[in-house]
Amino acid sequence: MNFPSLDHIEKTDITQFQQDLLNWYKEEKRDLPWRYDQDPYKVWVSEIMLQQTRVDTVIPYFERFIEQFPTIEALAEAEEEKVLKAWEGLGYYSRVRNLQAAVKEVHEQYGGKVPDTKEVISSLKGVGPYTSGAILSIAYGVPEPAVDGNVMRVLSRIFSIWDDIAKASTRKVFEEAVRRIISKEDPSSFNQALMELGALICTPTSPACLLCPVRDHCHAFHEGTADELPIKTKKKNMRHVHLAAAVLQTEGGEVLIQKRPESGLLANLWEFPNTELSGHGHPKVELELFLEREYGIESTLDKEPFAKIQHVFSHLTWDIDVYKGTMASSVPARERSRLVSSEEVEQYAFSVSHQKIWKQAKKNGWNHS
Ligand code: SF4
Repeated sequence: MNFPSLDHIEKTDITQFQQDLLNWYKEEKRDLPWRYDQDPYKVWVSEIMLQQTRVDTVIPYFERFIEQFPTIEALAEAEEEKVLKAWEGLGYYSRVRNLQAAVKEVHEQYGGKVPDTKEVISSLKGVGPYTSGAILSIAYGVPEPAVDGNVMRVLSRIFSIWDDIAKASTRKVFEEAVRRIISKEDPSSFNQALMELGALICTPTSPACLLCPVRDHCHAFHEGTADELPIKTKKKNMRHVHLAAAVLQTEGGEVLIQKRPESGLLANLWEFPNTELSGHGHPKVELELFLEREYGIESTLDKEPFAKIQHVFSHLTWDIDVYKGTMASSVPARERSRLVSSEEVEQYAFSVSHQKIWKQAKKNGWNHS
């Protein structure tokens, strides 16, 4: 296949570029817990956690997760509820569900050894081209590209690539770029060095070109276009949803919580009862009607919400008005809802927005135990 946008690679001294990048990486790489060894399982967990999440946030999660589930076997056999709890706060929960499903498959089908070929590893749930490339190169030393937004930004600048990185088809261009420049002697360090360069030097805004180890090779630097690259068109169609949620207590101070459906957004996570608002009635009234319809309970809610929570997903924003209220102790038993004490609330895996709700409730004088 012909890649006209990669013409600048031909004008680059690739051997020198590799050396400059790798020498810098050896000296400057951060001391991160998943770099202590090249255990494919740990590389896998770290790469899944690092998708959409900052390194500083991931470090304590990674350490706790590996302590709790140190091996493929431990994660494969763990209860889903415990795994979700360990992930609580990291968001994008489908990542950990897919990880556990894939780890189970590795445990059962491949004798607990993470596959080392592109074909097999790519067939695992949640393992896309980036993750498979990262595991194969970092853990097994296979010269495979591991291209994410970070790497696309760095390469678009170094080799003056003007393809729109918001388009899914552009990934192929950058994968081809990596295939042409990757160090065959040390693909593990090479891919990590590109990622590290993007995290520390060639950052999204204000790249630190004067400190950059590959500045001599960088076409955007020489052309003065580093601030214009990468090309990334804006995503459209962000959907806004207005919800009302209730933190309801019984006389004895128990709180009503419910489990989300088994599939779809935030599947199986716990939350406070809530409903999407139609926009036609008063939120409080709509919420009370919902509680009566869904739970058969009469509730008395405060007049005004005690908190307004916003949560932004990649394609969707939730604006939640949160009301405090009371209800009769007897809630008809339902499979996916529970009455729990306020200490017990903390033992359940909640979505991030509902963790925020609980935090606010406590701040606002939640005083039952
Ligand atoms: Fe990025 Fe500047 Fe380095 Fe080029 S010289 S790779 S734009 S930091």
